[in-house]
Amino acid sequence: MNTELPSYEEAAELVAAYAGQPDSHGPAVERVELGFAAGRILAQPLVADRDQPPFSRSTRDGFACRAAEASAHKPLSLVGATRAGAAPSGPLAPGTAWEIMTGAPVPSGADAVLMLEHVEAAGGTVRLLPPRTVKPGENIVAQGVQARQGEELLAAGAPIRFGQIALAAACGYAAVDVYVRPRVAILSTGDELVPVSSSPAPGQIRNSNAPMLAAMVAEAGGEPWILPAAADNAASLDAALALAATADLLLISGGVSAGKFDLVEPALARLGARFHFTGARIQPGKPTVFGELPRAAGGQTLPFLGLPGNPVSSAVTFLLFAAPVLAALAGSWESLPRFALARLAPPVERHSKAGLTRFLPAFCNFGALTGEPPQVSFVPWHGSGDLLALARSNCFLMVPEDAHSLKPGSLVRILLP
Ligand code: AMP
Ligand code: MG
Repeated sequence: MNTELPSYEEAAELVAAYAGQPDSHGPAVERVELGFAAGRILAQPLVADRDQPPFSRSTRDGFACRAAEASAHKPLSLVGATRAGAAPSGPLAPGTAWEIMTGAPVPSGADAVLMLEHVEAAGGTVRLLPPRTVKPGENIVAQGVQARQGEELLAAGAPIRFGQIALAAACGYAAVDVYVRPRVAILSTGDELVPVSSSPAPGQIRNSNAPMLAAMVAEAGGEPWILPAAADNAASLDAALALAATADLLLISGGVSAGKFDLVEPALARLGARFHFTGARIQPGKPTVFGELPRAAGGQTLPFLGLPGNPVSSAVTFLLFAAPVLAALAGSWESLPRFALARLAPPVERHSKAGLTRFLPAFCNFGALTGEPPQVSFVPWHGSGDLLALARSNCFLMVPEDAHSLKPGSLVRILLP
């Protein structure tokens, strides 16, 4: 089955092709109050209910005037004052100026605002101090420059974060339509697994993938649904897969390698699975499988990913392959996974492995204020089962298939969580 495995890029293409199908998603819509909309996906276009900004406003504390008059350095008589929140005033008579505060509407007739610091005030007049001049439009944001009333500002599919919340609030959306979160079944497999609350007997381990994947699903905008772990036998797997049939996406951890008790692929095949790939030239995560199961009701299929059980493998392959599928099912227009460039810090050991693209736990110093790409270094690790390396990393360093050795100081790609 793994005679000619796809490269990372080829496997990613297959996932992107699935995620890009218009009929691979189409989530239901629900309305939530704006205060609960962060982290959701917008399901309606956001439309400007009025011009933005709704009136020409001053960006400074100072004096509204006509630029040509002020630039001639004549004293302008002060004829009024406007603070933020006051109704627009005017028209401004020739030879006059109007005291104005930041955020206040500019009186009609005025075309510039002189900064407080740039004028000389005396006897009810202000004069722009030479040699300074002022241009029309200076220190004013004109009504409607950002958007006109009725204009579509954001399309459905936008992930809602603080910026989108601010825009929705400014346009009067006390509640917004968002897509219902896809329900993601998480099925762990393995005879050795016991629940977190149990004390493992010799030979057993706690199931750490289920809570890890649940956290990753929630962060990626899905609703995690942890199923009871399945044992490594056909009957247990068949029963668990039957239970998962109503999910929007199925994640299976473990049981996809080539071992005698790796029975997930045959169980999926018994249900009529169509496999898009069964393994990829990556490390960790080589045995990952991706495909679709037919649904009893016909029509749309149930996409699934079989992730290798080692925790680092499960985490990396979730980010590489499950997150893009989940984003599409969630109705998001965001394309995943996210990569960035960073500069490789020494020491660099031999991290290449012929014919495999590697994604190794690494720590990137995102906070440094150097104006340079951030520095990234490998986290010491002892293979894909190394939970400590996972917990001490904040990204994965991508080592291309053909990179024979990475040099300290070179620019490298990192996979962001
Ligand atoms: P598998 O992919 O089933 O061959 O498992 C590979 C390794 O990952 C084995 O050492 C398993 O014990 C471990 N493993 C599998 N499932 C989990 C899980 N849910 N939590 C933690 N480790 C696991
Ligand atoms: Mg197993």
